[in-house]
Amino acid sequence: MDDAAKGLLGPAEERIRFFEEIGADFLVRPGPASSADAAGAGPRISSASGNAAELEALAAEISACRKCALADVRNRSVAGEGNPSARLMFVGEAPGADEDLRGIPFIGRAGKLLDRIIAAMGFDRQEVFIANILKCRPPNNRDPLPDEVRACSPYLLRQVEIIRPEVIVTLGKPATNFFYGRETAITVVHGRFFDFNGIQVMPTYHPAFLLRNERFKRDVWQDMRQVMAFLDKK
Ligand code: SF4
Repeated sequence: MDDAAKGLLGPAEERIRFFEEIGADFLVRPGPASSADAAGAGPRISSASGNAAELEALAAEISACRKCALADVRNRSVAGEGNPSARLMFVGEAPGADEDLRGIPFIGRAGKLLDRIIAAMGFDRQEVFIANILKCRPPNNRDPLPDEVRACSPYLLRQVEIIRPEVIVTLGKPATNFFYGRETAITVVHGRFFDFNGIQVMPTYHPAFLLRNERFKRDVWQDMRQVMAFLDKK
């Protein structure tokens, strides 16, 4: 097998490993995502350079932002990254220590797990867009405060408006509450689509929570299967 062929098998192998880890190897099935891997289909990168320019301008605005006290304690702001015309967007609550140092979202242990979930869904990281509600790290990774969410969330909403994804996956309670518009219990609402301004939102558990509670990986996978089914219908 040549190197190119080995490279094409990567996402499929990753998916199988993830299935096995969550005890769901019976979920290995042919489908559009697998066919795309087998065919070597590349990322569905947008040609919408206008979106990219708008997102870049917004990222510059974010890096200069001092609208809340987190500006005093951050190393770097973390605007978000990915396909400017992504069909699928992941939103967490705030950057952690690794992200704060490098200015890139979801790159620590939780980020590695998110990468595996994305690969298991048949996407790669460059095809989706990954962001947080807060663009700067709260001290000791505490939950975002209401004032911080009020100050920072317009940036996320502008990203959503520019990208217009078909599906937003909210990772954990703060991100879910934000789009839901009120307090929720992630154990109750995960796995159920709801509408946000015409965009389907799927709440699920945060990868950092999964690292501490492995048995919930199966729930997350069931939630992601619904997202895959929705996107495959398009
Ligand atoms: S968290 Fe948001 S509002 Fe606060 S300083 Fe950072 S970018 Fe600005």
